[in-house]
Amino acid sequence: MSSLPSSVDVAIIGAGAAGLGAAHALKDCGLSVILLEARDRVGGRGYTVQAAPGVIFDVGCGWLHSADRNSFVAIAERLNFEINRELPPWRERAFGKAFPQQQRAEFIGALDDFFERIHEAAKGGVDHPADRYLEPGNRWNPMIDAISTYINGCELDQVSILDLDAYEDTNINWRVRRGYGAVMAAYGAALPIAFNCNVTLIDHSGKRLRIEMSQGTLSADKIIVTVPTNLIADETIRFFPALPAKRDAAAGLPLGLADKVTLLLAEPEALPKEGNLRGATMRTDMGTYHIRPFGQPCIEGFFGGRYAQTLEDAGDGAIAAASIDEIVSFLGNDFRGKLTPLRESRWAHDPFARGSYSHALPGHAGDRAILAAPIDARLFFAGEATSPDFFSTAHGARDSGERAAREVLAVLGGR
Ligand SMILES: Cc1cc2nc3c(=O)[nH]c(=O)nc-3n(C[C@H](O)[C@H](O)[C@H](O)COP(=O)(O)OP(=O)(O)OC[C@H]3O[C@@H](n4cnc5c(N)ncnc54)[C@H](O)[C@@H]3O)c2cc1C
Repeated sequence: MSSLPSSVDVAIIGAGAAGLGAAHALKDCGLSVILLEARDRVGGRGYTVQAAPGVIFDVGCGWLHSADRNSFVAIAERLNFEINRELPPWRERAFGKAFPQQQRAEFIGALDDFFERIHEAAKGGVDHPADRYLEPGNRWNPMIDAISTYINGCELDQVSILDLDAYEDTNINWRVRRGYGAVMAAYGAALPIAFNCNVTLIDHSGKRLRIEMSQGTLSADKIIVTVPTNLIADETIRFFPALPAKRDAAAGLPLGLADKVTLLLAEPEALPKEGNLRGATMRTDMGTYHIRPFGQPCIEGFFGGRYAQTLEDAGDGAIAAASIDEIVSFLGNDFRGKLTPLRESRWAHDPFARGSYSHALPGHAGDRAILAAPIDARLFFAGEATSPDFFSTAHGARDSGERAAREVLAVLGGR
């Protein structure tokens, strides 16, 4: 924890992946830099906890998506984190009878066809809501929508096809044995961070920038803003004079919702390591379950979109209760006594996130570039939502922080 100076060259607001990426890029440039973080920890939406002895749980990001192009892979390795390169269990490694192989193959075929139609449509350059490309009457449509709630944090009617198509998925997804959030914590360890600093106002009316926060005020030459879009859209963090174009761009890129739960599993050897469990539920309101990740004695559940919101709104423990009910419906009543809730996320209720990851509303794919653009060569913007191709991810966030830092250095004459 750094003591708070009254004036700095560069203030970075938020010590999530983007803020950490920006701070690293400015580290040896001879500038005074401080990260202002509202929480009492680094990592933001990257957060690893020891949920029980032998159960490490990433409450937020867990997968190194597009791992062959993911800048956190080299960082994790440099920091001595073991990378697990086994492919995810999402498509193969199905467990149980709840979703028989033949139906699963049909579903995956329908899903692939749907994404191909989106890709073709996006070539036309005209934006539409993604649900328009569901095949009318296809019985898998509700479950394709469920996949959207995992990928986008929302149902397809809220998703821009141009944005969806701009995302660069190399289909290589790896993990970090000790947790993605733990990598971020190590990556941020030596940086100048002031914790419990909730920034409420950025005053850019004067010659120097002035920051109002829970711990007083600070002046800066340059500011890099990395807070999640929902906080800019809701004006939880305000600008003076107001920046309506930024607020509107942030509103066009809302954070959808994804939540996770981990359940302790008694007699774990009865189930395979790294299995995937889900049902042919024909519903959008469904969880997907990862059995014994890394062989740990637990099952992780994943929920998205309106269903996740409904469960969060139902209060603490509702996600765990719903997942136990669903798992029992797949595996039998014996499992009720074998599962104990350990930890669940509530990202919509987290005051410094208000959601999980950004998606562009139909007609708003261009908002990412608007949000990313600097103002007056002294206010700079980063965060996952500003990434042109890796939005919604941790590495996209980190790279955007580095990009904003380069913009700062370019203004300062290439220091
Ligand atoms: C459940 C879930 C699963 C996910 N799974 C994956 C995954 O598998 N792979 C992947 O790559 N990504 C995943 N993500 C997304 C990934 O975690 C985020 O895209 C990424 O961490 C965002 O980084 P960021 O720096 O842009 O924002 P954040 O991490 O949100 O950082 C912003 C920081 O700003 C701080 N802040 C907010 N307001 C203020 C204020 N007023 N003053 C000061 N500080 C403030 C916040 O506390 C936070 O620390 C997941 C996210 C969730 C929630």
